[in-house]
Amino acid sequence: MGLSNLVGNERNNMPKYSVQKSFTFPYGHRLMKNKNLCKNIHGHNARLDVRISTDKLNADDMVIDFTDLKKIVKTLVDKLDHAFFVNKEDKRVLEAVYSIQEKDKMFITEKDPTSEYLCQWIYEEIAIQFIDPLSVENTKRLHVDFVRLWESDGSMAEYRHD
Ligand SMILES: [Zn+2]
Repeated sequence: MGLSNLVGNERNNMPKYSVQKSFTFPYGHRLMKNKNLCKNIHGHNARLDVRISTDKLNADDMVIDFTDLKKIVKTLVDKLDHAFFVNKEDKRVLEAVYSIQEKDKMFITEKDPTSEYLCQWIYEEIAIQFIDPLSVENTKRLHVDFVRLWESDGSMAEYRHD
């Protein structure tokens, strides 16, 4: 009996391979709905984990080359580096930050820029990079398993879309 029989049928449709890369970048934000310390303007040295999965390796026997994964995510991380996130409803902070922040380092968000919301936003920005107009096969093969954002060593949010 092979290993696949031992782990059971329910696992057959799940991705079998995954690779993950981590990135770090500092960012600032304020949570206008928050009643605690996060209502203040503050920053984090964040760690971002991105995991890509597949049930079928490519011709090079890889999920994706780490170099290619790095290239895709790093383009986004460079935009987020030293950026400030502000809720579109946060009028006073919006006005203040707008007057001093480099415009390409300011992101106006639909919701409070919590770790959870930023995870979802980053997930969608990355997932769209895996839609390959030249290869339906490639688009179907790779799946962004999850995005995790560590706002400190002990505090992590995750977004996944199965
Ligand atoms: Zn914070």
